[in-house]
Amino acid sequence: MTDRHSQTVEEKAKSKLEKRLAALRSDIQRELIKRDHELYGDLVDKMSDSSDASVADLLIDVNLAEIARDLEELRDVESALRRIELGTFGVCTQCSGDIQKARLETVPEASRCFSCQTAEEGKNQRDSHLKM
Ligand SMILES: [Zn+2]
Repeated sequence: MTDRHSQTVEEKAKSKLEKRLAALRSDIQRELIKRDHELYGDLVDKMSDSSDASVADLLIDVNLAEIARDLEELRDVESALRRIELGTFGVCTQCSGDIQKARLETVPEASRCFSCQTAEEGKNQRDSHLKM
């Protein structure tokens, strides 16, 4: 008997996060399957012509980077879901202040309030992977 329009921020975030979690899991699975094929191809190359092995290595590296990025996001999403269960969702993990509602609606996996996130990003300026 839940009224769609009176969904709490937590409920909205939870359904978003759960969808994201499922999408990430299938992405990772797909990447791993792809990588397995490439590992297999690499072995075949090594047996026939060793000069192609470096290309296969490169492909594996690229896939690993993708998987690593997906896994990182998966961890963020999972910890946000855990915060919802613990009732600490929307509380900044850095300063214990409230995370802005608008921010939680666009980035439900956000674990820091806007000012803590900005400070953190300033520290990692070379890191081009910025969270919205
Ligand atoms: Zn904060």
